Amino acid sequence: MALMLRLYNTLTGAKESFAPIDPEHVRIYACGPTVYDAAHIGNARPIIVFDLLFRMLRHLYGAAHVTYARNVTDVDDKINARAAERGITIRELTDGTLAQFHRDVRDLGVLMPDDVNVAGERPRFIEPRATDHIAEMVAMIEALVRSGHAYVAAGHVLFDVPSMPEYGGLSKRPLDEMEAGARVEVAPYKRSPLDFVLWKPSKPGEPSWPSPAGIPEPGRPGWHIECSAMSAKHLGQTFDIHAGGIDLIFPHHENEVAQSRCCFDTPVMANVWLHNGFLQVEGEKMSKSLGNFVTIRDVLKDWPGEVVRLTMLKTHYRQPIDWTLRGLEESSRVLDRWYNVAGDAPVARDIPDAVVEALCDDLNTPAAINELHRLGSEGQSAALRAGANLFGLLARTRSDREQDAVAASGVDVAAIDALIAERRAARAAKDWAASDRARDALTAMGVAVKDNKDGTTTWTVAR
Ligand code: AMP
Ligand code: ZN
Repeated sequence: MALMLRLYNTLTGAKESFAPIDPEHVRIYACGPTVYDAAHIGNARPIIVFDLLFRMLRHLYGAAHVTYARNVTDVDDKINARAAERGITIRELTDGTLAQFHRDVRDLGVLMPDDVNVAGERPRFIEPRATDHIAEMVAMIEALVRSGHAYVAAGHVLFDVPSMPEYGGLSKRPLDEMEAGARVEVAPYKRSPLDFVLWKPSKPGEPSWPSPAGIPEPGRPGWHIECSAMSAKHLGQTFDIHAGGIDLIFPHHENEVAQSRCCFDTPVMANVWLHNGFLQVEGEKMSKSLGNFVTIRDVLKDWPGEVVRLTMLKTHYRQPIDWTLRGLEESSRVLDRWYNVAGDAPVARDIPDAVVEALCDDLNTPAAINELHRLGSEGQSAALRAGANLFGLLARTRSDREQDAVAASGVDVAAIDALIAERRAARAAKDWAASDRARDALTAMGVAVKDNKDGTTTWTVAR
């Protein structure tokens, strides 16, 4: 392969050439949403960034040679609390939230399992749900207890952190330092304050499943074991890339590594660990707990998904992004310009090398976008579309985009045509006041009118 993908690996702290375990089957896992509430625009960042990585891997290795698993966490304290608060069942809450999540990310141009999977072939995109993998989790937990890496205490199963001397290797927190710094007020059943929950008792009314051997009462899994069990089942005990937000490095990913490596006795869980930076508002992480969030749906009320997607990808995935109105406005102008250049041109067969090369450098989206600007300013319509398509942008022609905008805006096309005819007649009669009234009525409908050199009048819905 002429082009070599290089990725920054949190595990080694360096940018490395990516060499899949099996180039015939490249495997990537990303931690997905906990479906208790609508996703905010910060949550959209890993989804969009790793969607771009998935598209790149498909381009480099072939669509049939890549499997992407992005899980859904549908068992969690926050889910139980929210369902109780709303007086609905847990399944109603998780199904409803997941359906909303699917609508949100589809509108952001994110590939979905149905877009890429082919009946009768190996899955290319899997979206495993935690509650469908309880048996796999229990089996892993029991194996960890058997091998002395976990223990049963007070209805819980805990991972015995000091049993794994390399614990802390991903987050670069040496075990002895963590032990020295550990706080004393910990649950009395923990042997070490660093030990974390693999399984816990369920409170009355909470979902529960038969517990691992040694615990008669039913219970439920901890969060970390979910991803170890689902990634092993769908991608194997060792796979190529594990991705997620930077906040997940510790403890979530560190704990996943400990569980998977100790359970399967492997030197690594995934070879490459990728982490996206935060989306921020005025210098602070956007988060539910800080209350400084806007949902994806709210943003999509004001902005097309494509504008949001380009705004997200303008910044390199490892850098923080400041989410601003100005950023969105700028992306909107860029897309208008690109659509004007692209027009209704067909998509070039080959993606321009310079775009792929930029993305091969640890997904250098700012550099790749500069290449798109260059193609745009050179008027290379078909190449611009091909390059933008790799980004999940400019999938439509300009005409289709305009029609979509008209449909989405709900404007009354017949009323617009009537006003344009009225304006034309007024202008012919030099009745400027009537002509202005017609134009004002159009503006009030969000319609921009353009008089062309050839004497025709065209209109667009301003967004
Ligand atoms: P949470 O809603 O906190 O469980 O996060 C779900 C996913 O979104 C995780 O991969 C987080 O790392 C990611 N995430 C949450 N907030 C942000 C943010 N402000 N910027 C970027 N990623 C985020
Ligand atoms: Zn995870």
